[in-house]
Amino acid sequence: MELLDGRIASQAIQQQLAEAWRSQPDLFNRPPHLACVLVGHHPPSETYVASKIKACTAIGFQSSLLRFPETVTQAQLLDTLHQLNADEDVDGILVQLPLPKHIDEQAIIEAIHPDKDVDGFHPVNMGRLANGLPGFVPATPYGILLLLGHYQISTRGMHAVVIGRSHIVGTPVSLLLSRNREPGNCTVTLCHSQTRNLSQFTREADLIVAAIGKPGFLKGDMVKQGAIVVDVGINRIPDAGKKSGFRLVGDVDFASVAPRCAYITPVPGGVGPMTIAALLKNTYEAARLHRQRS
Ligand code: NAD
Repeated sequence: MELLDGRIASQAIQQQLAEAWRSQPDLFNRPPHLACVLVGHHPPSETYVASKIKACTAIGFQSSLLRFPETVTQAQLLDTLHQLNADEDVDGILVQLPLPKHIDEQAIIEAIHPDKDVDGFHPVNMGRLANGLPGFVPATPYGILLLLGHYQISTRGMHAVVIGRSHIVGTPVSLLLSRNREPGNCTVTLCHSQTRNLSQFTREADLIVAAIGKPGFLKGDMVKQGAIVVDVGINRIPDAGKKSGFRLVGDVDFASVAPRCAYITPVPGGVGPMTIAALLKNTYEAARLHRQRS
């Protein structure tokens, strides 16, 4: 069993990006700039945004954090997004989800200009992904592909089973793995909460991507010997031994699954850091295309 170490792969990608923008002063007369919008004080969102901003700083990207109280109106957020869309100094825009219930999340996503939509959630970018056209791919699915690529794992011809059909993870992963490129070229089965006999599918899988949101859901007896397992889950479970009062676990029961695997991602330190690397790659690409247009 080999660990797919997202921290190492993410560092390597971040270093490439730091060198890439600095080595092209004619194109990048200023660093790529990511603007993050954060509403309220949802603890995981605070953590995610802080790590995104820290990663930008580490590779010399510019970042802005626009904070709003939980009571912000939809009109105020839309107005902010219109300003960011028009701002020539901003290359990428990210609105940290989830948003408070009184805000229509889809309206917010659709207000981000597709050229600055580095999270890849705008229907234009989702449509481009479905049609195999260039566009911004959501950071977590993109990060999973980058991780497989970093470890030079060829997925051609594999049976991939994706568990979870969210628009953020499961659905785009299933599209990406079925594309005619590497990593990709898999035969994909997309499983979800209404799938009957889930284990029947997972036991057949060469590659499993677990994106369910249930701690330790995938057990060893659901996985065939020699499989590759990518654990997307980030679940907080109470732990009195930790200062924070919780620890992070994935959707995979690592203790029973890992001994059966050829490769497996840890949680933390697997898909999480790759999501950051993918977001930075999207921001770099948004900045590059922005410079070419202006
Ligand atoms: P979601 O709640 O939107 O989707 C969960 C999916 O799991 C649904 O499609 C549902 O059909 C499926 N599901 C639920 N119960 C099931 C069951 N019993 N059998 C089969 N399928 C079942 O969640 P999401 O946004 O896709 O996130 C999934 C997990 O990934 C969460 O733990 C989340 O925190 C984590 N996540 C991690 C990252 C990262 O950067 N590592 C990014 C996004 C999400």
